[in-house]
Amino acid sequence: MGAPTIGIDVGGTKIAAGVVDGHGNVVARVRIPTEATDLAAIIGGITKVGREMRAAAPAAQAVGVGAAALISHGVILGAPNLAWRDLDLRQVVEDRLGLPAVVDNDANVATLAEATYGAARGAGHVVMLTIGTGIGGGLVLDGRLYRGANGVGAELGHMVIDPGGPRCPCGNNGCLEVMASGTAIGRIARERSDGPGAAKVLELAGNDPSLIVGETVVRAALAGDAFAISVLDEVGEWLGMGMANYVNIFDPEVFVLGGGAALGARELLLAPAVAAMEPLIVERERRPPVRVAFVELGDDAGVIGAAVLARELI
Ligand SMILES: [Zn+2]
Repeated sequence: MGAPTIGIDVGGTKIAAGVVDGHGNVVARVRIPTEATDLAAIIGGITKVGREMRAAAPAAQAVGVGAAALISHGVILGAPNLAWRDLDLRQVVEDRLGLPAVVDNDANVATLAEATYGAARGAGHVVMLTIGTGIGGGLVLDGRLYRGANGVGAELGHMVIDPGGPRCPCGNNGCLEVMASGTAIGRIARERSDGPGAAKVLELAGNDPSLIVGETVVRAALAGDAFAISVLDEVGEWLGMGMANYVNIFDPEVFVLGGGAALGARELLLAPAVAAMEPLIVERERRPPVRVAFVELGDDAGVIGAAVLARELI
């Protein structure tokens, strides 16, 4: 396969860049902290790591950027954790680095990476959910990233699955994000922390119920605590309902799960999710079972996915 490309991954805490060869290997890399509140510093950081990678790989012909932001056709519309808005980042990167550039959000590029070289390699139809503080996601359909008419589609965390549920940061009630994220795990455990079974979770939170977070519950569940396991069962059921809806709509070959909550809890979240998902799949007796896998590329997914995205330019 072709020439190497450069991938840049801009997150709330770090900017990572790498040169990725035609087989998906990261052959050079650099990482610096993000000064998330200073736009000039963010752009300066992207320029610095990009130029370093250009110097490392003079044959590279294009650069891809994945960023934690709402992005439409290369323009940053806004971001929860970074100080930029209404910025044509694609143009900025092209001007600074002198290479054709493409920009997309971090969830999309991570999905592309997993669909090309990771847990779903070889599959043309992939749904990915990243389950952490919120729920992000991406879609690869017919071998290509799906972005929607305005480039802001695939917001898989914001499907409403319980209209009576808690308010989501997006303004809706009962999105998958508030029912099945790491934040949801912590919230449910806090709400029930005065019950008889909550002693272990409370102890791990220093006996302060307000300090119970998703990670506290996952730690207790991994140690066998029945209360914590019951919270993960409940959150897993909501997750499975969301996954079934995506399976019915997109008919993926592989469902990829990532994010801190999913990778911490693993089977403790996956088992109840799959048990809830399967009965809700339409015509499930007449179709092969959907494969559910955890992400494989770890921290490199952003850099690899951005570099894979850049290949569409050469
Ligand atoms: Zn929402």
